[in-house]
Amino acid sequence: MKTLKEADPEIYNIIQREKQRQMNGLELIPSENLVSEAVLEAMGSILTNKYSEGYPGKRYYGGNAIIDQAETLAIERAKQLFGCEHVNVQPLSGSPANMAVFFALLNPSDTFMGLDLSCGGHLTHGSPVSFSGKLFKCIPYFVDKETELLDYDAIKKAAIKEKPKMILSGLTAYPRKIDFKAFGEIAEEVEAYHFADIAHIAGLVAADMHQSPVPYCDVVTTTTHKTLRGPRGAIIMSLTEDRYHDKYHSDATKNLAQLIDFNVFPGIQGGPHDHTNAAKAVAFKEALQPQFKEYSKQIVKNASVLADSLMGHGFRLVTNGTDNHLMLVDLTNKNISGKEAEVVLDEIGIIVNKNTIPYDPRKPFDPSGIRLGTPLLTTRGMKESEMKSIGDFIAKAIEHRQDKNILENIHNDVLALCKRFVFYK
Ligand SMILES: *Cc1c(COP(=O)(O)O)cnc(C)c1O
Repeated sequence: MKTLKEADPEIYNIIQREKQRQMNGLELIPSENLVSEAVLEAMGSILTNKYSEGYPGKRYYGGNAIIDQAETLAIERAKQLFGCEHVNVQPLSGSPANMAVFFALLNPSDTFMGLDLSCGGHLTHGSPVSFSGKLFKCIPYFVDKETELLDYDAIKKAAIKEKPKMILSGLTAYPRKIDFKAFGEIAEEVEAYHFADIAHIAGLVAADMHQSPVPYCDVVTTTTHKTLRGPRGAIIMSLTEDRYHDKYHSDATKNLAQLIDFNVFPGIQGGPHDHTNAAKAVAFKEALQPQFKEYSKQIVKNASVLADSLMGHGFRLVTNGTDNHLMLVDLTNKNISGKEAEVVLDEIGIIVNKNTIPYDPRKPFDPSGIRLGTPLLTTRGMKESEMKSIGDFIAKAIEHRQDKNILENIHNDVLALCKRFVFYK
């Protein structure tokens, strides 16, 4: 970054300091990852200079023959990765991708079902502060109070009663596998669209570590920057034909794929970010390699070892464990709130996020839990033995949170571990 260093030393220094922070800490936020140098180079390329409203072969600006090739590569690779019929690679991020799907499938004030935020759903799954809850009528479903698992019988009963036009399946804080086939059957029974949002687990799906929703859905969205390990952004996969076209779109002339595309552009976006879309293509190529399967397997193994380590130290995990990349720790029996734990762990270089647990008696800005995940540390090359140590660090720091000396010692151990796993030189 020689040029940047000269042109704008302030921003250059901020980037260097943030890089040091990323390398000198243990980032356990499950939605984060580290992209390859190749992805970074594509993102930082001159493709950012182009305007290309429209889609390959149908642009509103001239000079797009080469951009068309990049976007087409991204589309073809995504299709291969997920085995889907149609892909739109233009969404700027996960929330706008979901917005385009809502606008394509529903009319304002139509009813849909989504997982409640407090039980692991995303803001865009019907929270009253999001467009999804403001413009549409959300009937939330919940996890079972005892098992903390999705209760498919209860979801089915609610669907039969409420007759939603769309059922949304997906998670941001649910530590178990999702039965997309069961969701698909419920949706079919009530003639609702089935829309899965796999932002968190897309990498696991691509690597066959989690059931794919694609065969059981009308539409699937995912971010590209979480387990998929690409640039910030999202894609929308869909069937081409609209299963409930006559029922819900009798006067529309577009099939489902066209409806999705039309609602991304011109519906909510203007020109696509061609540099990001090229970087998505690079990330999809990486995800198609056999090493990506190994990587994804290791993410799940690491999460399971970290979960065991924490439970061995007396922490209660929501659902008593995990079978994906993330876990939710209920701190109630440790007499510390999620917010306090986040601060204590931050002091020793372990970065987590506070999170509600299902039926949390506390408020979202100071909830009972923290959420941990392993995708990023797995990218750094850490394996089972490091996860075991990290569980020990967390337990010790929370137990001795008043003791500055002990905290400083753990921080030094964290730094020593980080030094063995430098990702960006
Ligand atoms: C992260 C996430 C999103 C939103 O993605 P942004 O890129 O932050 O807008 C949407 N849905 C789910 C399930 C997510 O986990």
